[in-house]
Amino acid sequence: MHLNKSTAAVHSGTHKDPETRGILTPVYTGTSYEYIDTDKSVYPRYFNTPNQDAVVKKLCALEHGEDGLVLSSGMAAVVAALLALLKKGDHAVFQGGIYGGTHHMVTAEFKGLGIDYTFTPGNAPAYFEAAIRPETKVIYIETPSNPLLELTDISAIVALAKKHGIITVIDNTFASPVNQNPIDLGIDVVLHSGTKYLGGHSDIICGAVIASREIMAAIRSRSVNLGGTLNAQTCALLERSLRTLVIRVERQNQNALTLAHYLEKNPAISKVNYPGLESHSDHTLALQQMSGFGGMLSFELKDLDIVSFQKNLHLIHPAMSLGGIESIICSPRMTSHAKISPEMRTAMGISDQLLRLSVGIEDVNDLIQDIQQAIEKTHQSSTIGSLAGS
Ligand code: PLP
Repeated sequence: MHLNKSTAAVHSGTHKDPETRGILTPVYTGTSYEYIDTDKSVYPRYFNTPNQDAVVKKLCALEHGEDGLVLSSGMAAVVAALLALLKKGDHAVFQGGIYGGTHHMVTAEFKGLGIDYTFTPGNAPAYFEAAIRPETKVIYIETPSNPLLELTDISAIVALAKKHGIITVIDNTFASPVNQNPIDLGIDVVLHSGTKYLGGHSDIICGAVIASREIMAAIRSRSVNLGGTLNAQTCALLERSLRTLVIRVERQNQNALTLAHYLEKNPAISKVNYPGLESHSDHTLALQQMSGFGGMLSFELKDLDIVSFQKNLHLIHPAMSLGGIESIICSPRMTSHAKISPEMRTAMGISDQLLRLSVGIEDVNDLIQDIQQAIEKTHQSSTIGSLAGS
């Protein structure tokens, strides 16, 4: 039976305990399973324990995929998928503006493995087409992108890849399965940093891969060798978190849209990047390929000091990561893009005044009030500071 997402989030995959008839998946912490008269060898690193099976089934129901794996981090998922799909002599095309950790992994590891790669200079499908070679095996995208929330046209990339017989991989972390189901649009492999929206409470680290049974067989056998499995307790926490994924993300979508409209009208803000705004260059594409606009947005403070502004916030924490139920803010210049030269950052459209906000599930009026008081306080202290200096 095909379940809608809210129902799938609650019910899919649950491994009811036949002995006690408990309605939730028990936590099977064991690492040793009997093997005589069974048709499979169960072992946590083989990704086939009851807790791994249960949470993977739920993720597959949410992402509309056939099979999947949960791994020890988002990066473990990225590496396992790419190393299963690429071998020495192959070439991969990566969207230029992907997560910094993935970008760094590719540049640090691929040459040594004999795998060549090209990063596109932008998200337009023409850039991907121009980078394709006879030995290209994978096209890798991430949409919406970090931190400018730019979109990549998933259907156009899929059409291009199919024409050339190339496998498509997407990092769907920012959108979450609630807002975007890339498999429905023809994408072959979906990746997640489960540390973000899937976990949703800023207290677990994990990753996930979802794809067809055939592709997952290759990723599974590579992953068994790489060893990045997920333990039973974290699987159980992830399963519990996924039960509320839809209501959490729907609230984050609503809060982010309200905040984006508020920020857009605020004279202290020069620019707001949110795909739900009509002013966003990819708004029409967002309406086509996303069912919600997500909980991530970024904005540029006009002339206030970004460090003082962040310190003046009471509710919104200046902190790294994203996707939790609490709102957090960070400066790409000071965090994810700190190692990139100022000239390069400017070329990428990442201003020093840019702040990225991961919107939580709080009452949005309290978030607006927090931002408003921080703007006023930062403005006052900079005015006093300049008067004192004059
Ligand atoms: N993909 C995206 C979009 C991310 O933001 C991150 C982490 O920030 C990762 C992948 C890597 O995930 P993890 O930190 O769980 O390894």
